Amino acid sequence: MKSVDLVVIGGGAVGAACARAAALRGLEVAIFEPGPDPAAASPASAGMLAPQIEAGDDVLLALSVRARDMYEPLALRLQESTGITIGFWRPGIASLAFDEVEAQRLKDAAAQQRQAGLRCDWLEADEVHERWPGAAPDCAGALFAPEDGALDPQALTRACLADARRLGSTLRAEAVTAVETADGFVTGVVSASGKTASEHVVLAAGVWSPRVSGLPRPLLVEPVRGQMAATTWPATTPRAILYHDHGYVLARAADAVLGSTMERAGFDCRVTNDGLAQIFRGAVRLLPALASQGVAVQRMWAGLRPVTPDGRPIIGPDPEIARLWYAAGHGRNGILLTALTGEVIADLITRGETDVGIEPLRADRFQP
Ligand SMILES: Cc1cc2nc3c(=O)[nH]c(=O)nc-3n(C[C@H](O)[C@H](O)[C@H](O)COP(=O)(O)OP(=O)(O)OC[C@H]3O[C@@H](n4cnc5c(N)ncnc54)[C@H](O)[C@@H]3O)c2cc1C
Repeated sequence: MKSVDLVVIGGGAVGAACARAAALRGLEVAIFEPGPDPAAASPASAGMLAPQIEAGDDVLLALSVRARDMYEPLALRLQESTGITIGFWRPGIASLAFDEVEAQRLKDAAAQQRQAGLRCDWLEADEVHERWPGAAPDCAGALFAPEDGALDPQALTRACLADARRLGSTLRAEAVTAVETADGFVTGVVSASGKTASEHVVLAAGVWSPRVSGLPRPLLVEPVRGQMAATTWPATTPRAILYHDHGYVLARAADAVLGSTMERAGFDCRVTNDGLAQIFRGAVRLLPALASQGVAVQRMWAGLRPVTPDGRPIIGPDPEIARLWYAAGHGRNGILLTALTGEVIADLITRGETDVGIEPLRADRFQP
């Protein structure tokens, strides 16, 4: 029977980054990925790196700012080692307010972030229009996070997989059906072609993670559908990333990427009229030029975000089964957290420790 140091279950962005980071530390890695599944999150993602815009709780904000700041050097490294450009772009993101109550909330948030040592500005409406001519004429100002940005999530996944393979990892185009354990240790995984023995196993199968059998505990990860659309970017409008209330317009190559819905629709990843109407309404409010003649719809799609009850990912060891690791439940900001997750998992496997505070991300935190 073939034996490896590490099996990674799932070759989305998170699994790919875990595999690459482990391979860089000299481990022999097998990545099991049958798809990607048409509903997978990573290919569907907008790829925003927006910790200061989507600031969750304090734990998530600190983690995700650190995660964001890993991408500038990583983009260069991946370009050098694989030739793949991951589209890292750091123009800053503006979160627009449309009334005085929102404006006050965002002003307070900007002040809080500055107090926490982060760069963050409040822009009055005239400054917004000066910077981004064509942005919402009725806006009441914006929180501007100059260090937030975006990347191309498909390119990120491709580059991490390519780098992992360059370092000797193998990609197995099949699904893992079960994790095998014995005497409190993980021993390998089962797939259609049989058993693969492995010292370590990382579960990184997005919304499908809880479906792998043999896990020692229920994994509280549920699908939250996000619908997206892309149009051409309106001519003569400067490229930007504009945000309001979970809706956004983001320039990627020649396109405007418009998102997104947050829907509990089980594993249904269809695009709906209702979802698209919501996205287009929000996007046109942010950038009215999107409704002008000549701006053509290019594509629409949807994906399933793997979401936990507290919105934080599950990253770290299983508390009872040695050498079983979780990298799942990354929710709305999983691309942002991808590179950090890979480093944490690879450090835990090879050094037994990480300097990232992962206690709040424990796998058993939802258990009574
Ligand atoms: C519409 C949308 C917009 C988003 N926008 C952003 C954003 O702007 N910024 C951001 O940071 N995040 C964003 N996200 C969230 C982010 O995309 C996810 O958190 C992240 O991609 C999760 O990655 P993953 O690798 O865990 O999951 P996935 O990408 O879903 O990958 C899981 C993989 O596991 C495979 N798999 C399933 N079952 C098995 C099995 N049994 N064996 C082996 N493999 C298996 C699947 O085929 C799949 O490829 C968005 C998500 C969506 C849906």
